[in-house]
Amino acid sequence: MRIHGLILPAVIAALPLSYSPVAGGKTASAPYVKGDLNGDLSLDQNDIVMFNSYLRGKLSLTDAQFTAADINSDGRTDIYDLMRLKKNIYTYSAKPPEGTWLAYSSSGTDYYYFSGEKCTVTSQKTGAVSSYDCNISGNSLTLKNSSGEKTGNILRTGSKSFTLARADGSGENFVYYDSSAIDYSKLLTGDYYAKNGSSTRAFNIRGVSGTVNGKPFTYKMKGSDLEFDFSDGTTLTAKMTRVDSMHFDLKWSSGITERFTLRNITVKNGITYVNGVLIANKSYSLPSSYNPGAILPEALSSFYTMQADAAKAGLNLWITSGYRSYSYQAQLYNSYAARDGYAKADTYSARPGYSEHQTGLAMDINVAGDQFGLTPESKWLAANCYKYGFVIRYMNGKQNITGYKYEPWHVRYLGKDLAKEVYDSGLCLEEFFCIDSKYKN
Ligand SMILES: [Zn+2]
Repeated sequence: MRIHGLILPAVIAALPLSYSPVAGGKTASAPYVKGDLNGDLSLDQNDIVMFNSYLRGKLSLTDAQFTAADINSDGRTDIYDLMRLKKNIYTYSAKPPEGTWLAYSSSGTDYYYFSGEKCTVTSQKTGAVSSYDCNISGNSLTLKNSSGEKTGNILRTGSKSFTLARADGSGENFVYYDSSAIDYSKLLTGDYYAKNGSSTRAFNIRGVSGTVNGKPFTYKMKGSDLEFDFSDGTTLTAKMTRVDSMHFDLKWSSGITERFTLRNITVKNGITYVNGVLIANKSYSLPSSYNPGAILPEALSSFYTMQADAAKAGLNLWITSGYRSYSYQAQLYNSYAARDGYAKADTYSARPGYSEHQTGLAMDINVAGDQFGLTPESKWLAANCYKYGFVIRYMNGKQNITGYKYEPWHVRYLGKDLAKEVYDSGLCLEEFFCIDSKYKN
């Protein structure tokens, strides 16, 4: 059985997909690294001798050896592979690795930074860093620190790639990344979404690797300049501007600027949290069992502070509607629907489970009606409520996004830091989190 047509990201195309013995290898000493025909964990003259014998018809190869000898992975074992093998041995083997290399193994990806006799290893998953004393002798690499020692053989498979092979059959495939070390804290790890009209691009970034709508890439950051290397060999550059804790803009070299939103949606006990913030809108409902019973204390005390400050400005704020239970909302919605029909009721009243009032974090101020928008209290509320941790939830002109017409009286408590970020962004909460608010039926 020969391995043909493996679809690999270009960046590791010259290497086995994951670190494992080549199919067909039946003995412990089976060859499993490109070029290592005799399976001794070394690329050297002995492999060249074997290769020559094979080309002269004096030696037949096992399937595993054939795959190991097909260095350019074109399904043939020929003189071009031998030339690559010689180049790997004579040109690259003598050079110890320097700089940062991405190490792929079946257990995940690590970043190795080699600098003289020191090596640091950073986990892509956690960012945890381990430091080692690094000793390279011939093709043998030893990393040592107080918690132990790791040894393997470096098998150079190209100018920017090598395989680290260990006697127990484990190992990693290394791909050169950059001359300098990676500052993990500055990386963009997370799930980001860029919305343009009705289409959304999903960037799922883990350390320096990621996918955009499923297409793999790695990226490098040089200050605010980003370079994306896609798996198909495309390189794109962009300038990054951080907007706030959950957003950045990328201005691509094409001149197009995209806003990226960090978005992490979790559901606990039927309750949806976006980046840890409880959300209730037409897309994300609350279960009937979610029942705080009243406006939550933090939101209420913030309201009282806001009310006192408004009073100093000669304005009178009060809560006309605060917490509403699931069953009360059901009563309310059904009575509106009976009067105006369901379609009309949906434009101004939430279906049970979908009302923000059930969260205990929303309140209607003074008068839940358009006349409130004409009062000085409305103007003051819009300009100041963020200072107390609130946002005007259903903004003017955003009905298609929030799912509700403009409601200058309806505020939602988010806490001061987030409310300020949302206020400064000029976005409604759905835009800020890159989420929808639409009934499914
Ligand atoms: Zn309301």
